Amino acid sequence: MSSLQRVCVLGSTGSIGVNTLDVIARHPDRYEVVALSAMSRVDALAAQCLTWRPRFAVMPDRAAAAQLRAQLREAGCATEVLDGAEALAEVAAHPEVDTVMAAIVGAAGLAPAMAAARAGKRLLLANKEAIVLGGALFMRAVEEGGATLLPIDSEHSAIFQCLPEDRSTWHARIDHIVLTASGGPFRTRDPATLGDVTPDQACAHPNWVMGRKISVDSATMMNKALEVIEARWLFGLAPEQIKVLIHPQSIIHSMVVCRDQSVLAQLGTPDMRVPIAYGLSFPERVESGASRLDLLSTPALSFEEADERRFPGLHLSWQALRAAEGSTAVLNAANEVAVEAFLSGRLRFDRIHALNRACLDSIVPGDCGSIEALLDLDARARTKARELL
Ligand code: NAD
Ligand code: MG
Repeated sequence: MSSLQRVCVLGSTGSIGVNTLDVIARHPDRYEVVALSAMSRVDALAAQCLTWRPRFAVMPDRAAAAQLRAQLREAGCATEVLDGAEALAEVAAHPEVDTVMAAIVGAAGLAPAMAAARAGKRLLLANKEAIVLGGALFMRAVEEGGATLLPIDSEHSAIFQCLPEDRSTWHARIDHIVLTASGGPFRTRDPATLGDVTPDQACAHPNWVMGRKISVDSATMMNKALEVIEARWLFGLAPEQIKVLIHPQSIIHSMVVCRDQSVLAQLGTPDMRVPIAYGLSFPERVESGASRLDLLSTPALSFEEADERRFPGLHLSWQALRAAEGSTAVLNAANEVAVEAFLSGRLRFDRIHALNRACLDSIVPGDCGSIEALLDLDARARTKARELL
């Protein structure tokens, strides 16, 4: 058997996917790419296949997959192209895969992430919507499958890096955690003008270059709301143990406040290759490609309270966590619909939180005990959100 770690990158054409391949390219002696996947960008995925020669490439859409198959055949590339959404879960659980980077955006990533969890993989979780939707069920799949769950979201990676490897010590050690937030592009804009925000303005993040969905979420701070929920599951915390602080320089990626009031923080330049490299190499550390943090030339670190008037969506996370099980799935679904509607010009930026709140208030979740029940709830919430639009 090879000693290379065999990696499947789900969402390989996205921002996290591309950064993952960048880190892997630095360590051909450690990692091998065995599967790639993308939604619609056939040319981009074809180019990645020609570079990496993976065993599998997956496109959920059959027509796109057929195009990819033809392109690869013509180029003499032996990668096997699989289609259909089920194929994502198949490669994620494949016996020739050791590590799965879950970097699909949105609830569509839940089933493949659950499959990787159940199959006991090393699971690098960037896809926060999957854990927000999956909640307790997802964490149970990780435990029962014996998977190693490694957070890729920079804040959660920071918390994870500040904690000992032995999870059983976390509860006794943590007083609370502080998730830092940059405040996004509208931190200082007059809140009365937020109704005029365009998609391109919302996607112009000051410190990070990311996909469009998470960029909009960062501008509304729904991204932080999702991260509060993500932290609740990853670290087994009560909602009141999770706090949020605006830190515009994005140098401190998050903090753990211990029972003795000692505060542990993780710092670095804002570059997703750091948490990705840590996920790939844990418990070791490898070169990531990120530039060195030069504290002498770093602007002074500052902190602010998140202004509720400017970021009314942030508090929905605690509301959803305290409400009936499944409420976080409703919030996530509503937000996916709201962001899509905003990006296509059908919803004003300053109405995103209102749609999310209205959806949260009008759906009674019910059964959350299986992936089918959760996806059903997700679909119900989307229908409701579209009605409310
Ligand atoms: P992106 O939009 O750049 O890429 C998304 C990827 O998922 C693409 O490869 C796309 O083809 C694929 N995809 C989209 N819809 C799909 C579907 N229905 N089925 C299968 N594949 C689909 O997004 P991103 O910025 O790379 O973010 C990916 C995930 O990582 C998100 O959940 C995001 O919240 C999380 N994340 C991203 C960053 C970041 O810096 N970009 C940081 C933290 C967490
Ligand atoms: Mg984050």
